[in-house]
Amino acid sequence: MTSPTGTTDGTAHHRVVIVGCGFGGLFAARALRRGPVQVTVVDRTNHHLFQPLLYQLATGILSSGEIAPPIRDVLRRQRNTQVLLGDVTGIDADRRSLAVQTLGSQWEIEYDTLIVATGAAQSYFGRDEFAAAAPGLKTLDDALEIRSRIFGAFELAEREADPEERRRLMTFVVVGAGPTGVEMAGQIAELSRRSLGHNFRSIDPRQVRVVLLDGSQQVLASFPESLQRRAVKALGRLGVEIHLGVRVTGIDAHGVETSSDDPALQTVPSLVKIWAAGVQASPLGQALAEATGAAVDRAGRIKVRDDCTVPGHPEIFVVGDLMALDELPGVAEVAMQSGIHAARTITRRLRGKAEKPFRYRDLGSMATISRFRAVVTLGRLRLSGFMGWLAWLFVHLAFLTGFKNRVATIASWTVAFVGHGRPERAITAHQGLRSAPAQPAEAAPRVGPELGWRE
Ligand SMILES: Cc1cc2nc3c(=O)[nH]c(=O)nc-3n(C[C@H](O)[C@H](O)[C@H](O)COP(=O)(O)OP(=O)(O)OC[C@H]3O[C@@H](n4cnc5c(N)ncnc54)[C@H](O)[C@@H]3O)c2cc1C
Repeated sequence: MTSPTGTTDGTAHHRVVIVGCGFGGLFAARALRRGPVQVTVVDRTNHHLFQPLLYQLATGILSSGEIAPPIRDVLRRQRNTQVLLGDVTGIDADRRSLAVQTLGSQWEIEYDTLIVATGAAQSYFGRDEFAAAAPGLKTLDDALEIRSRIFGAFELAEREADPEERRRLMTFVVVGAGPTGVEMAGQIAELSRRSLGHNFRSIDPRQVRVVLLDGSQQVLASFPESLQRRAVKALGRLGVEIHLGVRVTGIDAHGVETSSDDPALQTVPSLVKIWAAGVQASPLGQALAEATGAAVDRAGRIKVRDDCTVPGHPEIFVVGDLMALDELPGVAEVAMQSGIHAARTITRRLRGKAEKPFRYRDLGSMATISRFRAVVTLGRLRLSGFMGWLAWLFVHLAFLTGFKNRVATIASWTVAFVGHGRPERAITAHQGLRSAPAQPAEAAPRVGPELGWRE
């Protein structure tokens, strides 16, 4: 079956297909809204995900809707654009067509120009068996799964009589001290020390142990040293244990094994482990490389020309996290700017104007550590503490998609940061508690797998 693409104004135009509607795909689509083109956006999820706030979903601050608005709603006013739900599984570069699956049905879609913006996936550095015990944080499903594990651990701890097992249930290990790891560790610490007061009778959530591990010697390695030091200090104040130069050698349902010389760290008993250590290109990158003969880098990203096209295929653009160009980092700003560049190049071509290479404007980077504390680089400016947090707040609100989302997010942040609340704490049958066996109290489950987790 071929896709029923078409625009509501009935005109036939140059067909641009955009695969993936994260930052790269969405900004490309928006930049084509007035172009002489018919745009089809295909994504395997129905939402545009604001990944930088996933950790707030995972720790009960924000809801799914606040960070993942429906793509068709975001693009509803763009009359030259159709949104289709579909997982692109193959590319035929000669026929200029894509193989797609939607909820079990297979179809094809043809393009004149293709923009591939399918992002990155988690990398376990060849140890994929770690994934079941230590989920990464890339998708809405990941965040909801982690949220259920975190709040599920407190539920188990509340009724655990054995002090050693209770300690294991209340030990959270985060692997990887980049921005995601730092944000997760900081938020779990803040959640337990600040937000769960009076909620439990047998346990004191403030006793939670949060362990942050990294194989390198740095926290937030991509930030200047002065900000790294401030981040370490702020995490220390929150009670996060940081262990650097420690490689994880094993992870299972019981806990984590490490390369540390310190016997106390060689095995860390822990129910909830979170993997924030590495990324690799989305699997569609491999299919694209095979279909076009494009080279890939070590992370599987497609090496593109300086205009973001695949060598030998000027009709195929690769943008965002899937693109390898000039060592640019996998950050939202690169994805947005490269998406816009691809869109403008298409419009220029169709209007017979000269094309330009992609020039990235580095606008800086930021990571939050806790409420009112963030580290930020903006050009030469270095901000930390409350000023850093204000800059973080402003930038995140500016880029959150949709007016309703901004209003709802401000309300949720007020509840969490000014107050003490964590309203988004539901554990559902799909995440965490799906097959909890009905047992008498004395035989209640003591470990995660029995709660239906994927371990
Ligand atoms: C937890 C986390 C925190 C982050 N924090 C920051 C931050 O603070 N600042 C910052 O600048 N960057 C941050 N990033 C990085 C930033 O989010 C990414 O660089 C950015 O999202 C990349 O955009 P993209 O469009 O390339 O890919 P994505 O945003 O990942 O979008 C890819 C899209 O493609 C879709 N897709 C994938 N495969 C297929 C397929 N086969 N068929 C159809 N659709 C498909 C996906 O569903 C998704 O919608 C963070 C990332 C994560 C995971």
